[in-house]
Amino acid sequence: MILVTGGAGYIGSHTVLVLLEAGYDVVVFDNLSNGSEEALTRVEHLAGKKAHFEHGDIRDRERLDEVLSIYPVTAAIHFAGLKAVGESMKKPLEYFDNNVSGSVHLLQALRQAGVFNIVFSSSATVYGDPGTPVFNENMPTGTPSNTYGYTKLVVEELLKKTQAADPRWRVALLRYFNPVGAHHSGTIGEDPAGIPNNLLPFIAQVAVGKRDQLSIFGGDYPTEDGTCLRDYIHVMDLAEGHVSALKAIERFDHGGVGIWNLGGGKGHSVLEMVEAFEQASGRSVPYKIVARREGDLAQFWADPGKAKRELDWEVKRSLHDMMADTWRWQSQNPNGYRE
Ligand code: NAD
Ligand code: UDP
Repeated sequence: MILVTGGAGYIGSHTVLVLLEAGYDVVVFDNLSNGSEEALTRVEHLAGKKAHFEHGDIRDRERLDEVLSIYPVTAAIHFAGLKAVGESMKKPLEYFDNNVSGSVHLLQALRQAGVFNIVFSSSATVYGDPGTPVFNENMPTGTPSNTYGYTKLVVEELLKKTQAADPRWRVALLRYFNPVGAHHSGTIGEDPAGIPNNLLPFIAQVAVGKRDQLSIFGGDYPTEDGTCLRDYIHVMDLAEGHVSALKAIERFDHGGVGIWNLGGGKGHSVLEMVEAFEQASGRSVPYKIVARREGDLAQFWADPGKAKRELDWEVKRSLHDMMADTWRWQSQNPNGYRE
């Protein structure tokens, strides 16, 4: 059975679906600070199979021990944490507490339960600003431009050092590029609370009429159209990458740490995203170009070669799929999981 921390959230819920469909049993552990049980109900409906749900906080060691004593867990996929970049600068203690202390407690509880396989949600932000747009896993990590990113780097180090001290651990560090999209059915997707921080949910809310216009942060970058380029990855491709990584670490003979980029290997500009969304939705997305946002790099994308070679995984879904699936989710659920 797989323990999925944060499994009621955006990426977690899509991954739970892929796990169930691949035949795994799943127990989700989530404090619902940014997740929804309704997402899991819909996942179960899509999969035709039940996922166990346990309400709890990864900082609560007793609760973790309790859950691990009930279920025969063999591996964990660890999504739980806080992820808002701007908020992380204002609330560093909350971010270190949830993301770093929470991970320490989780690792202690897993060790006690004899569970040594873990897949961790990291981020391309750990590369910092390496001075080249193509990020590959052989590059040293850098200095993330925000506190959120820093917590990801610290947890990567925590996992590496834990594994170095005890070779029973098998660890996957998955460096996500920009996850977007929703399940093709349009029944599960990203449900941000309040004003979305990320580009695609913002565009989708403008298209559905919830917000007037998109602000594009910077039109004077040294890129073809002056807006930033990012490597957007469909959340279902990302979810499948977790199952591939889980299988890969299970094949490690003597423990180890695998680091893999999960991205498509191609950059798309903000303006390209707006156009692609308009095409897929048939709605217009009014925008204005405003000042640059602090901490944004002009352009970067993944070198996806290592994941292809070692995980036999690569993205399958197109930019159009990302947009069409986002639109299906947004138009069918204008208020997300809240009715
Ligand atoms: P999300 O907020 O939708 O999901 C996180 C889930 O964790 C939520 O359901 C929340 O309720 C739960 N949670 C938070 N703190 C918890 C705690 N202390 N104990 C138990 N549960 C807790 O976010 P997401 O977009 O699905 O991201 C999942 C993971 O991937 C996060 O670790 C995030 O940092 C990482 N990540 C996300 C992105 C992205 O752009 N979405 C990019 C790179 C990495
Ligand atoms: N962006 C934007 N307007 C928004 C949100 C984002 O122009 O309202 C841009 C942002 O500057 C970046 C890209 O869209 O170039 C992706 O930003 P997002 O916050 O989604 O992801 P990030 O790359 O920062 O993790």
